[in-house]
Amino acid sequence: MSLKYNEILQELQKANTKLVLVSKTKPIDQLQYFYDLNQRDFGENRVQELVLKNETMPKDINWHFIGHLQKNKVKYIAPFVHLIHAVDNLELLKEINKRALSNNRIIKVLFQIKIAQEDSKFGLSQEHCLQLLKDSSFTELENIQIIGLMGMATFTNDISQVRNEFKQLKTFFDSLKQTYFKDNNNFIEISMGMSGDYKIAIEEGATMVRIGSLIMGSRK
Ligand SMILES: *Cc1c(COP(=O)(O)O)cnc(C)c1O
Repeated sequence: MSLKYNEILQELQKANTKLVLVSKTKPIDQLQYFYDLNQRDFGENRVQELVLKNETMPKDINWHFIGHLQKNKVKYIAPFVHLIHAVDNLELLKEINKRALSNNRIIKVLFQIKIAQEDSKFGLSQEHCLQLLKDSSFTELENIQIIGLMGMATFTNDISQVRNEFKQLKTFFDSLKQTYFKDNNNFIEISMGMSGDYKIAIEEGATMVRIGSLIMGSRK
């Protein structure tokens, strides 16, 4: 387990890319194993599971919520979540802002942008993302910080398609950076790449990859 982990860490270090270790469905002792190897960023996609793990594990972990988040569950993770990766609508953003405020904190989020060809994936189209940024109520949200974009490529063996989708996300990130986030030094992250496509993601400019099964073993 740690051999693969070390190998991947070295690859990521060369590219200055952060590893979010996706620990969903895995038991605490497996997370603790990687914590003891100095891993601090973990990704989960179920609220209840994340809350439980947060209660049990050391307090200096950065918990990343990487899944689809329902509005009515934001309150459970708002006190401690480090980064919410997959925000794709204004209502959710408002709720995160509200709960951040009541916890007296600023919560960092990424906009999930739809880059895959598949219909089933969540995410904003580039057009909708632009609309959201222009919405007057967006500027009133003072307890959230948009620190970048997240995307998931199509699940396919077609490497050039995956590469193109990652390129799309990087291009969109760059254009937002030059327009809406011009004077904003916090807009810096591109979260893309999983077990099967992280190498391509690094080449295309990922600042963060979300890897689970390749390091922690397959999930049931
Ligand atoms: C599960 C998951 C991952 C990690 O998937 P692996 O293929 O196990 O690396 C990454 N991102 C999201 C959003 C996920 O739900």
